[in-house]
Amino acid sequence: MKFHIITLGCQMNYSDSARITSVLKNCWFSPVETIDDADIIIFDTCSVRQKSEDKVTWKLKEIPLTKKVWITWCMIQHTMRNAKISEKKDIPEQLKVWNFSWSVTTKEPKILWITSDEINELRKGESDIVGINHAFNPLFHSLSQKWPNIELFFRIDDTGFLPLMLKRLWYEVSYDKELTNEYSTIIPEWINSSMNSHNKTAYIPISSWCNQFCAYCIVPFARWLEKWFSVDQIVREAKIHLANGVKEISLLGQIVNKHPDFVTIIKELLKLDGLEWLRYTSPYPTYYSDELLKLHENEEKLCPHIHIPFQSWSDAVLKKMFRGYSAQQCYDFIDKIRGLKRPISITTDIILWFPWETDADFEETLKLTEYGRFDMIYMGIYSNRPWTFADKKYPDDIPYKLKHERWKRLNDLLYRISEENNKAEVWNIRRVMINEKWERWEWYGVTDNNKQIVIKWENEFELWEMINAKIDKWVVFKLEWSVLK
Ligand code: SF4
Repeated sequence: MKFHIITLGCQMNYSDSARITSVLKNCWFSPVETIDDADIIIFDTCSVRQKSEDKVTWKLKEIPLTKKVWITWCMIQHTMRNAKISEKKDIPEQLKVWNFSWSVTTKEPKILWITSDEINELRKGESDIVGINHAFNPLFHSLSQKWPNIELFFRIDDTGFLPLMLKRLWYEVSYDKELTNEYSTIIPEWINSSMNSHNKTAYIPISSWCNQFCAYCIVPFARWLEKWFSVDQIVREAKIHLANGVKEISLLGQIVNKHPDFVTIIKELLKLDGLEWLRYTSPYPTYYSDELLKLHENEEKLCPHIHIPFQSWSDAVLKKMFRGYSAQQCYDFIDKIRGLKRPISITTDIILWFPWETDADFEETLKLTEYGRFDMIYMGIYSNRPWTFADKKYPDDIPYKLKHERWKRLNDLLYRISEENNKAEVWNIRRVMINEKWERWEWYGVTDNNKQIVIKWENEFELWEMINAKIDKWVVFKLEWSVLK
């Protein structure tokens, strides 16, 4: 069987797609590059914005009905919460359907299709049960009526049990049982086509899910509550990637630096042979320790770049968002980074158009943008997500014209700051990873401080080669090194 994964969303989804690949390869399924070549199309979905969910329905239209479709991750998980209470009442106690992923410890559970008719049967006392939760997922019912080729919804936590689900679906599978694992211990395979541009970078989740419940965010509903992976397991996975030629490791977590052993993980990984660069995303301002900042100052391989999602700089908005820090704490944090001896590039996320944001609130955001001298701001357009506090309490009250004006002012400011920052890079020597050949004598790469760079040179480079580049030109959001005569 050949499968093709369509990954939507963040790096965490890419990492999970690589885990799915690994489990399916263990079943002798083969990953392929295109929908045309595949028998099964797998959607690894995101639901952070409504737009991401819409992409799945658009994409489904392009898939011939002769091909099977499986869907996993955020989109199906938050809709599981949507199931009606009347259905919940019928669920047998031992399934603990609202959090059954935590209760499954057995290596060889019985996989059951849970339909309303089967529920009574289940009451008879099975104890090792993983449910494929079609029956409780309204999305499965609505989508599968339109697209009968949808064969499977599975929770990402159950990826390790895919071989067992496949048997239940009457696929003939053989697999190495030793490799049938609980989700967090699956070693991913970076085969997916969407990962090609990152095949010297391994994304390693060190935690998953989030307990923060920011007022606007669907993640705690879609991905559920936080768990941390062990230091040993993370180091083990990193060693496997490095032995396979990976040069850069990026640690992932919804609040990556909340891991209780985060500094230890960084220190352990920095000791590993073959590692050139270490990054992590996304940290949270209040979970930074001085020790971690010192590591940024002193450890060359820990990249001189911090991406720190502040989201807003108005105290009033931060409070409404339940972010748990004040604008002053953001200023203090920036001061600490700027106080380090090694210059660190800072990038951030801002939510644009959060409901009830006043002009005065927005001015605060502009003020701190100027202060932070950010190299990039990823502007997330506020999207109303079901289940969240903001959805229930804060109706969108910002007129379109005002939204556009604010976006433009922030964008203009960001352009100016990027120009000034990049101008200051001229004559700096930066470590660069070459990641694309554009045309003859023109190469693209990324610097240690996470900026795009164009290199113009008659020399041939290997893709993923690490070189030192002397910056001699700049444009907004890009640096250049040109050695052409
Ligand atoms: S920290 Fe807040 S914004 Fe980030 S994933 Fe958790 S709830 Fe969502």
